[in-house]
Formats: sequence, C-alpha cells, structure tokens
Amino acid sequence: MRNRIFSGMRPTGSLHIGHLSVLQNWAALQDEYECYFGIVDWHALTTGYEDKLDLKALIREMALDWLSVGIDPEKSAVFIQSQVKEHAELHLLFSMFTPISWLERVPTYKDQLQQLGNEGKDLHTYGFLGYPLLQAADILVYKAKAVPVGEDQIPHIELCREVGRRFNYLYGNVFPEPQALIGKVPLLPGVDGRKMSKSYNNAISLTASTEEINIRVKQMITDPERLRKDDPGHPEVCVVSKFHHIYTPDIKRVEEECCAGKIGCVACKKYLAENIDKVLAPYRERRLFWDEDGKVEKVLQEGAEKARITAAATMAEVRSALGI
Ligand code: SF4
Repeated sequence: MRNRIFSGMRPTGSLHIGHLSVLQNWAALQDEYECYFGIVDWHALTTGYEDKLDLKALIREMALDWLSVGIDPEKSAVFIQSQVKEHAELHLLFSMFTPISWLERVPTYKDQLQQLGNEGKDLHTYGFLGYPLLQAADILVYKAKAVPVGEDQIPHIELCREVGRRFNYLYGNVFPEPQALIGKVPLLPGVDGRKMSKSYNNAISLTASTEEINIRVKQMITDPERLRKDDPGHPEVCVVSKFHHIYTPDIKRVEEECCAGKIGCVACKKYLAENIDKVLAPYRERRLFWDEDGKVEKVLQEGAEKARITAAATMAEVRSALGI
C-alpha cells in the first residue's frame, strides 16, 4: 500500500503563478503517494468569518486551478473539507486534550493576530486559535505519513505530531507521525517588487491570457540604474530576472547579455512574457476542458466519497480507542 499524503488550500481568492510550484509539487507526488487534496473551506472562515466570501464560487475556481495544472482525480481525492464531517469530529475530540499553550505558541498565531489585526480583523476567536488543531485533524484523519508544506508550516506539522502522540499515549496507538515534505518553492515577488498578492494587484493570475501576461510583465520593475539599452544591467536587483530564473531555460545567456548591455529591457521582458505564456497556455486549455458543465462538481463529489471512506475508517478506530 502506498503511503498517504494530505495537503490543502484555503479558498480565499484566485491563485496566481506564485502558487504554481506548490501545485506542481503536488502533481509530481501523485504517482508515489495516495493523495488527499482538500479545499479547506472551514479554514477560510477562521480568518474570513466577516468577509462574506462567496465560498461556492471560490471553491469551484480553486478546483479548476488544481485540475488545470495536473491534479488528476483518477489518482487523487480532490474534495471540499466541509463535505467530510469526520474532520470536524476529530478536531473536537483533539480539543479535549490539547493544552491551550500548545496552540498559543504556534509562531503564526501571534504573528497573524498582529498582522491581520492591523488590517482591522479581530481574530481573538476560538476558531482562529484552534486552526492548527483543525489542520492536525485534516492530516491525521487520513493517517497521512507525509504532508507537502512550505517551511513556514513546519511548526504546524510539529504540533500535529504532538497531538497524534498524545492521543496514542492516552488511548492507544492509532496515528502515525507525519513528516513534512518540504517542496522547493521559489519566492516570486509581485510585478512591483512587493510580495505577490491579489490584494496588491501585482500578481499574474494562473488563468492570465497571453495579453494579460504581456501587460503584467511590462509593469515589472527593472534595474533602476539602467537608463540606456547598452548600459550594463544588474539582474540581481531586477524583478524580470527573478521570473526568468523560473521560466527561462537559457537564463544564463539572458543574464550575461543583461550584464554586458547587449539586451534591452523591452526585448528581455518580451522574451519572459513568451516563456511564461508557454507554461500557462496548456493550463488554460485544460481549464476549458474541466470547466464544462458538471465536471468539477463530479470530481468534488467523487473525491469527497473517497475521502469519507478513509476518514470514516480512521474515526471508527478513534471511537473504539476512546470507548465511545
Ligand atoms: S535586461 Fe532584463 S534582466 Fe536586465 S535589467 Fe533589463 S529587464 Fe532586467
């Protein structure tokens, strides 16, 4: 039997190319692992409970993004968290024995409390404090042995392991200790050099057309010291170059030409836009396929059915261990 992995994303807005490497990592894991990929809508409410999010539309868009980049429903369960109620039951049971101090010391708790507090969100809520515990339930309800995550999520995986260990110690051995699978996720800036974010309006959407890609790449900040085409450039300070590193196979040549003042920024940007388009074009096409009537809904329904079978088997063991 293949080892299982679980990973998820919150449906809080459309994905951009900064998310692409995460999805590509997921897609690459599908042959090696039994994969459960959840659109974690309850997590979206932990920080967005006042935002009146159009979750139905956001969930559908996210599923389309995943399918279009190669998450394959024949290989992986693609589902909505709230359609598998076992996540909530396990979260509740974990909350009985998880010390509050464990949750308070998760580094993102205090950081986000302050950061999102500055943006006017009141996150002094039970749900927000407990969100890493819900994450632990998301993972352990599938007895996942591995979780593909970014480095910032490592403390959450550690908490998940601690919670599983405590359950096993108190009630009997049910849960494995999942390992973090740290994928290579290059940090791409937005076109203005700040963090790429939909709210800064500086991102290239995963669904961007050729025209939209051209517009965004033209907006990218270049080396400010380069005034004329033949001035030697400094790719290390240029946003365009950071994208070339991901999307341009002959990056070395581009950098050499930039440093030698042999390529102008306009031509350099045009080349980058073409290379980004080459990567996104097949995704746009696959998206059209999945966007046809009822296809996404069927994937999510079948994914939830598959996820429920695995989660229900774990919960039967959990209830038996607890004597309930
Ligand atoms: S030539 Fe390219 S890498 Fe060099 S500064 Fe201009 S846009 Fe940036």
